[in-house]
Amino acid sequence: MSFSIAVVGAAGRMGQAIVAAARERGVSVAATADAGDDVAAAVAAADVTVDFSHHTATRSVLEAAVKLGKAVVIGTTGHAPESRDQLRALARETRTVWAGNFSVGVNLLFHLVGRAAKALPEGFDVEIVEMHHRFKKDAPSGTAVRLAEVVLEGLGLGPDALVHGREGVPGERPAREVGMHALRGGDVVGDHTVVFAALGERVELTHKASNRAIFARGAVHAAQWLLDRPNGLYDMQDVLGLHEKTGPGTAAAP
Ligand code: NAD
Repeated sequence: MSFSIAVVGAAGRMGQAIVAAARERGVSVAATADAGDDVAAAVAAADVTVDFSHHTATRSVLEAAVKLGKAVVIGTTGHAPESRDQLRALARETRTVWAGNFSVGVNLLFHLVGRAAKALPEGFDVEIVEMHHRFKKDAPSGTAVRLAEVVLEGLGLGPDALVHGREGVPGERPAREVGMHALRGGDVVGDHTVVFAALGERVELTHKASNRAIFARGAVHAAQWLLDRPNGLYDMQDVLGLHEKTGPGTAAAP
């Protein structure tokens, strides 16, 4: 099926990878926009807008897409929790895929971590460790935030159980706690590990990205998948058919 995309954040690392992935797949890039450009004009010029820019751009991308009836793929991370619900409501008014991570492997990791969190008996402590390049602006990564949501849901815990880093004398680790740790350095594209540690044994589920083309290819694939969907908010689990039981267009992530 022939279609065109607009790329928002086009001058950035991911923006450039998206343009390359589109070319690789024979998808035309009808418009590009970066900071200071007219985002609405870019949205108007293509069938699907792919936004990997900055969290402050998401609202204007979604507003333009809703107004113009265009589809959107959002990969940008770092949105404040209090703005996420409003953005999700806006995203449901058009066709949107919004995912903290567009790689096939990470979406499989979400699936496996959810299964493990539900299956493991009490006595396993869960910690999430992520590492990214020194240029990354937000922490923890959108993927780690999603992994935490999956773990908390699987364990039946609320958001207050999540602890970011530890320092001083926090005391012995409570059982119903999930630890989150963000490492930054060098040119690491993206590593995520979920550790399930008990007395005497430990399970670790890890994904390592070595090339950001995986996210770009996933985003272009999601753009094509969206073309003939009804309005709704979807995630990459929908695109890949990995959801166990949710209905179409009801994704909560990221
Ligand atoms: P980057 O800093 O290299 O690029 C961001 C680009 O967006 C820059 O060119 C910047 O000028 C531009 N920009 C900033 N504000 C803008 C605005 N208001 N309108 C339009 N453009 C604007 O960053 P990056 O490594 O390319 O990552 C971009 C985003 O994508 C980040 O939020 C990152 O976390 C996210 N990301 C998501 C995934 C995923 O799979 N979902 C994968 C990698 C990165």
